[in-house]
Amino acid sequence: MTGQHHLDDAKLAEGVLKGERAALARAITLVESRRSDHRQRAHAMLQKLLPHTGKAFRVGITGVPGVGKSTTIDTLGSLLTARGHKVAVLAVDPSSTRTGGSILGDKTRMSQLAVDPRAFIRPSPSGGTLGGIAAKTRETMLLCEAAGFDVVLVETVGVGQSETTVAELTDTFLVLMLPGAGDELQGIKKGVLELADIVAVNKADGDNIPRARAAAGEYRAALHLLGARQSYWSPPVLTYSALTGDGMAEVWEQVELHRQKCEAAGHFAANRQAQQVRWMWTLLNEKLTERVTNDPTVKARLPGLERAVAAGTLAPSMAAAEIAGLIGL
Ligand code: GDP
Repeated sequence: MTGQHHLDDAKLAEGVLKGERAALARAITLVESRRSDHRQRAHAMLQKLLPHTGKAFRVGITGVPGVGKSTTIDTLGSLLTARGHKVAVLAVDPSSTRTGGSILGDKTRMSQLAVDPRAFIRPSPSGGTLGGIAAKTRETMLLCEAAGFDVVLVETVGVGQSETTVAELTDTFLVLMLPGAGDELQGIKKGVLELADIVAVNKADGDNIPRARAAAGEYRAALHLLGARQSYWSPPVLTYSALTGDGMAEVWEQVELHRQKCEAAGHFAANRQAQQVRWMWTLLNEKLTERVTNDPTVKARLPGLERAVAAGTLAPSMAAAEIAGLIGL
């Protein structure tokens, strides 16, 4: 790190701590960069800001496209900023890697929050693996906390592993559902209900109200069948309308209640500690994989080893041992 960068970064960190948006945006850009000198500077900055992180409500929000995630975040976020909270909206969108852009966290989808001085919206980092996106999102979350945001909403589409990833980043996981019963329920992956701390059926307005209530009943029954995950919390199922705002405050009430119960049971701190340790291992695993795949000797040997393993002439364990040996493990 050069002396000049050191000074710049110290200033940047100060700006972040003062809650300056321009500084926050620049710090996030540094964190998202894949250049190794930027990585080093980002790590140094995060280490410095670490004591100022950790105080926010970290809430994951998922649901199929069209369920109303952006409408919900707009309505909920505005309700929270009106109460004096500072709300950061982040997104984890693995498809951004393929499409080159993320629809999640798009400011145009959240018209009220986009112009709210107490809100900060950042689209999903693009490029890299889901693990890589999660890494950057976690670091961005820490920067937002250091900048004084006390609510961080992390949005993801219910596809593949991204819900599990977001659940791993957050304290409370909110699953949004559509009204309608029976048929819709068939399509719901059991996995997402297992992750849910709160289930909220959106669009409970106008003619939809009976269907929303019926759906809520079905989800309650499904959760009941899944059985209790924790002694101190049974995931509630609510109905609300992001459009009219009816029931939105009750959804947030449950988020607060979930946190209280987790804290009282000692689970809140334990969960964050476990997340930190798993996080360390994730980073270490990534480093090791990087080291392996970038090693010239390994690179030269790898195609032959893979062929032999595929052909069944070499045991995978032997191949793994040889590769590990090549990098001195
Ligand atoms: P996302 O893809 O999950 O982000 O969903 P959007 O927030 O973009 O919403 C999808 C569509 O559902 C839009 O046309 C919204 O206007 C509509 N919508 C969202 N919330 C509600 C609601 O509470 N009630 C009704 N009736 N429509 C809603």
